[in-house]
Amino acid sequence: MSEVLRLLRENKLRVNLKGFLGHFFKTKSDDPTFISNANEKLLSWHAERLERGLPPAALVYHRTGVRALHGFTVERVSYMRKLDRQQYKFEREKEFKAVRSAWIREIGTKQATELEAAGFSQVDIARMVETGKPPLGYEVHHRMPLDDGGTNAYDNLILMRNDVEHRAVHGYYNPGEQRIKRMSYGEDGDVALPMPPVDTIVYPNIAKGYISEPMANVKFLEIFE
Ligand SMILES: [Zn+2]
Repeated sequence: MSEVLRLLRENKLRVNLKGFLGHFFKTKSDDPTFISNANEKLLSWHAERLERGLPPAALVYHRTGVRALHGFTVERVSYMRKLDRQQYKFEREKEFKAVRSAWIREIGTKQATELEAAGFSQVDIARMVETGKPPLGYEVHHRMPLDDGGTNAYDNLILMRNDVEHRAVHGYYNPGEQRIKRMSYGEDGDVALPMPPVDTIVYPNIAKGYISEPMANVKFLEIFE
């Protein structure tokens, strides 16, 4: 890994990020500290950024390349996967379906100005109110995951563009996703989670400078060094 990073830094190597990480993770699958170290390093990356006086951002994996999501923070969350899977299934499916459509109608009605400033057309917004569905290419995201302590309360929801931002937040090789994937139900542990900015109902939101930026893959790979 260090050798790969050295070559990447010197611009002597191009790697297929997905292929490389897939292979790399296979060689690390029996190392229990590897993933928790990666979570700690991602938290340090964020903390150092703030110490240098830079605005918050989350560094996330996306199969087309690493992104910085400006306005996001990376939070240490003491995560516990819900033991009651029936309850989780209810919240994830039946309850969320109803709440999502009510929330979409509500923001389309009451926060149309913010949606317009973020780039939605009046037609998009009218359709949200009419159908209770997110605009094409958008999805409703839980700020705090339902599978942890998150709920379907309105203030836990944010409208996110699927590509690249929402997919990047749930990026397969994000240290947090990797940690959660390995946890059994009822187990807890510290997870580095990308958290959306609290002062927006939609991401990206160009009016607030909340946009995603492609980053050098080496920045992300350093998390696993
Ligand atoms: Zn989501």
